Amino acid sequence: MTPTIQKQSVGGASATPVRPRFRSARTQNFTESVIREMTRLAVLHDAVNLAQGFPDFGAPEPVKAAAQRAISEEHNQYTITWGAKNFRQAIAVHYRERHALEFDPEREVTVVCGSTEAMIASLLATANPGEEVIVFEPYYENYGPDTWLCGAQRKLVRLNPPDWTFDPAELRRAFSSRTKAIIVTNPHNPTGKVFSREELGVIAELCNEFDTLAITDEIYEHILYDGAHHIPLMTMPGMRDRTILVNSLSKTFSVTGWRVGWILAAPDLSDSIRKVHDFLTVNAAAPMQQAGILALGLGESFHEDLRAKYKQRRDLMLGVLERAGFRCFVPKGAYYIMADISGFGFADDHAFARYLLEEIGVAAVPGSSFFEDPADGHGLIRFCFCKKIETLEEAASRLSKMRTASR
Ligand code: GLN
Repeated sequence: MTPTIQKQSVGGASATPVRPRFRSARTQNFTESVIREMTRLAVLHDAVNLAQGFPDFGAPEPVKAAAQRAISEEHNQYTITWGAKNFRQAIAVHYRERHALEFDPEREVTVVCGSTEAMIASLLATANPGEEVIVFEPYYENYGPDTWLCGAQRKLVRLNPPDWTFDPAELRRAFSSRTKAIIVTNPHNPTGKVFSREELGVIAELCNEFDTLAITDEIYEHILYDGAHHIPLMTMPGMRDRTILVNSLSKTFSVTGWRVGWILAAPDLSDSIRKVHDFLTVNAAAPMQQAGILALGLGESFHEDLRAKYKQRRDLMLGVLERAGFRCFVPKGAYYIMADISGFGFADDHAFARYLLEEIGVAAVPGSSFFEDPADGHGLIRFCFCKKIETLEEAASRLSKMRTASR
C-alpha cells in the first residue's frame, strides 16, 4: 500500500474501515496526528526526519545517569499520583528562582505524563461540552482532538505572518460569556513566535474582563533567539489564579520519550486536574521524576549552552532552506521553521510534502496540519531543526537537489 499523508486531523477521513457500532462518537472527527505519521513515513522512506520535533542527539549525560541511578535505587513503583514530593518541590524552587512565582508543591503542582497529558487533563478538568476555547491559529495539532474530546468548541484567532502578530480587536471578538479558556503556546509551535509583554497584557485583560482561564503551553520556554525573552502569562496582572501553566522535561532536556510534564495551577484547579490525571495515567514514570530533580538544578549555564546550540542549528537551517528556494519565517523561539512554499508551483502542501519525502528524502510537516481549514496552510510547510549538525547537513545536501529537481 502506498503511504499517504493524511489531511489535517479534525474532519479528516480514516483509511481503516470502521465498524460504526464499536466506534465512539467522540473519536470520529479526528485522525492520526500528521506530525507523528510523518515520523512513520520518514522511517519507511529512509528520509531525514525534520517533521516531528524530537532531538536525534543524546540527552545530557548527568540527566541520563540520574535516571539510571534512580532505577538502581528502586524508584520503580507508583509515586503519589500527582508526583513525587521531592520532584514537586524542585519544580516549585525552579519557578521561584526563575520567574518569582510561588507554588505550594502540595496543592498547586501536578506531575503528569508529558505536556500532552497536561493539556488534555487541564481541558477535561475545566471545560464543559458546548463551552468555547480560544486558540491562536496556526496551532499545534493536538489542540483539535483535545478540545473535541471535551466537547468544547474552538474559536480561532489568526496569527498573521510574517511576525505572527494578532489583531487585538479580533481577539476581543472571540471572547464571550461562553468562553472557558484561551490556549497560549509560548514560545509558539509551529511559528516560533514569542509573545511580547504587550500582547500578553492584551490577553490578560480579556481573560480578566470575561472571567476566563488561560492554559499556557510553555514547553519551549528555554529555547529562544535574538534576545527574545520568555514571560509566563501567569505573571501578568490578575492571571496568577486563572492560568494553568503546562511544561515538561521533554524539550529542555532532550528527553521527549520520558513523558514527564507538570501543571502549575491554583489549588481548586489543581484539585480537578489531579482527579482526571489520577484516573487517566495514575502517575508519570517514577525514576524519570527523580532524574528531573537533577535536570531542573542544572542552572543557567545549561540553558545558555542549549540556546547557543539551537541558534547555530537555526541559522544553519535558515541558510539551507533559503538557498533551496524557500521563503522562511525566522523563529524567535522553539525549534521549528515555517516556510512559504507557494513559489514552487505544487498543488498544495501535501503534494509538496510527498515530493520532499519521496524524491528529496526529507520529511517535513504539511502546513495545513496547523489550520482548521486546510486551504489556509496549503502554502506552508514546517521543518524542525532539533537535530545533530550532521543530520542537518545531510538534509542540506538532499535539499540542494531541489534546484535541479523542481525548476
Ligand atoms: N511537539 C512536537 C512537534 O510539534 C511533537 C510532539 C509529539 O508528537 N508528541 O513536532
